[in-house]
Amino acid sequence: MSNRLRGLHFGTCQCQIDHIDSATRPAENFLSFLYHQPPMTFDTLIAAKNAVASGQVSAVELVRATLDRIAAVEPDIGAFNSVFNEDALKQAKRIDDAKHPGPLAGVPIAVKDNICTSHGKTTCSSKILANFHAPYDATVIKKLQSAGAIIIGKTNCDEFAMGSSTENSAFKLTHNPWDVSRVPGGSSGGSAASVCAGLSPGALGSDTGGSIRQPAALCGIVGIKPTYGRVSRYGLVAYASSLDQIGTFGRTVADAALQLQVIAGHDPMDSTSFNELVPDYSASLEQPLKGLRIGIAKEYNLSEGLDLQVRQAIDAAIETYRSLGAVVVDVSLPNTSYGIAAYYLIATCEASSNLARYDGVHFGHRTADKVSDIVELFSKSRAEGFGPEVQRRIMLGTYALSSGYYDAFYVRALKIRRLIKNDFDRAFEQCDVIACPSSPVPAFKIGEKTDDPLSMYLCDVFTVTANIAGIPGISIPAGFTDGSTSDGKPLPIGLQLLGPVFSEEKLLRAARMFETATEFHSRRPSIDH
Ligand code: GLN
Repeated sequence: MSNRLRGLHFGTCQCQIDHIDSATRPAENFLSFLYHQPPMTFDTLIAAKNAVASGQVSAVELVRATLDRIAAVEPDIGAFNSVFNEDALKQAKRIDDAKHPGPLAGVPIAVKDNICTSHGKTTCSSKILANFHAPYDATVIKKLQSAGAIIIGKTNCDEFAMGSSTENSAFKLTHNPWDVSRVPGGSSGGSAASVCAGLSPGALGSDTGGSIRQPAALCGIVGIKPTYGRVSRYGLVAYASSLDQIGTFGRTVADAALQLQVIAGHDPMDSTSFNELVPDYSASLEQPLKGLRIGIAKEYNLSEGLDLQVRQAIDAAIETYRSLGAVVVDVSLPNTSYGIAAYYLIATCEASSNLARYDGVHFGHRTADKVSDIVELFSKSRAEGFGPEVQRRIMLGTYALSSGYYDAFYVRALKIRRLIKNDFDRAFEQCDVIACPSSPVPAFKIGEKTDDPLSMYLCDVFTVTANIAGIPGISIPAGFTDGSTSDGKPLPIGLQLLGPVFSEEKLLRAARMFETATEFHSRRPSIDH
């Protein structure tokens, strides 16, 4: 027993979870009795996975340590809508008993609450789905589980993934682990905060216009949005179907890459998933890209709205790449300034159609009030169930799709979409990746932008165009503010790399080059008790 414990760190937290799985082996019960101070979780997903694979720790021990950490830290962070206490331990027990448990054996993964799991609820952080139990697992969940991963719980997000701060959740606020008075970004803020705070070694999010890359940047971790079609969306609750994509979070590039490896690939259940071989992302990760050409788009040089310290960090990151032998080339993306407008038209149009199914009959909350007809039933149920931002978007989208406005707004936005895609195609003839900030600003204060939706929408200026064009993007830790504008608390800054379709392998390698030359990814917020 003592051999298996060697190498585990022990935290100082006294907190215990309520649910201890009675089916665990006597040795583990002995362990928790002996060490009432539970072991800390591992610093990275790869470390956790290796510890289980080598027998240094069992899946049950790792899951228990993770649940203990969640119990201790979660009250300050609010990353989870639900934690699968007993079920996670049951899954772990199965992994410990399995002969070939898979590449993610025993590794706890947190899942954004808009991805269906047959266990527990899938709420999309919305009152309208507050009691929804999905009848099936999303393909990504099945893939994670057959790779041996443990689904540890469902993370908070903006309602139906609409937002950039996780403040649009109907249930709770999620706090940024670097400064709990600030947002973690959004809409996958719970997943990003979970990984940042060490509540799970990895996490899944969804990215329709930046919801993986922006919270990854604000929390100082890695987040990757793959090419449209690289990962099955079967079981992802649709927000804007032509933009939605599932991706991964990790503290390091390798952590994000391994999860992506597991969830990527063709799925007969999603006709938009692409039938192309998934490269071995982890295998090539350590090979630097010789002669890497980094594109800098002059249109990204925003005169206003770009925080000075973000600009400086990104400039410094480009210099780091230069010192690693990369060539910096100027490119032009002339239609960038139309990105936000086109995105918020396409996304709201598709959302208004996708969300029509929540009417209290097909899906979702039904009003308890007496109603005189079906129309009143629909409208009352929807008015009670949807929050203000979702209602705003349904109205925007319905308006833009209505006869007389369809051509002026929706069709126009689709034309801009093509122009933006053409911009990228041309730019990638000159460079391998394009570098820019992930977010124009570091984490902002909770409540700072809630009264001004437009200023919130503008946070997405660097991320939406990748979804519009269907290309992959990754955000990696690239610096910290000096804390002068945040009560002395340094806030993380993210560098975004964009690449052509199906260039994930290249993006990951380019990201890893930066990681090996810098130490931003190894800093941790001081939230430990
Ligand atoms: N912030 C963007 C929005 O509110 C992006 C959301 C997302 O990627 N899910 O639509």
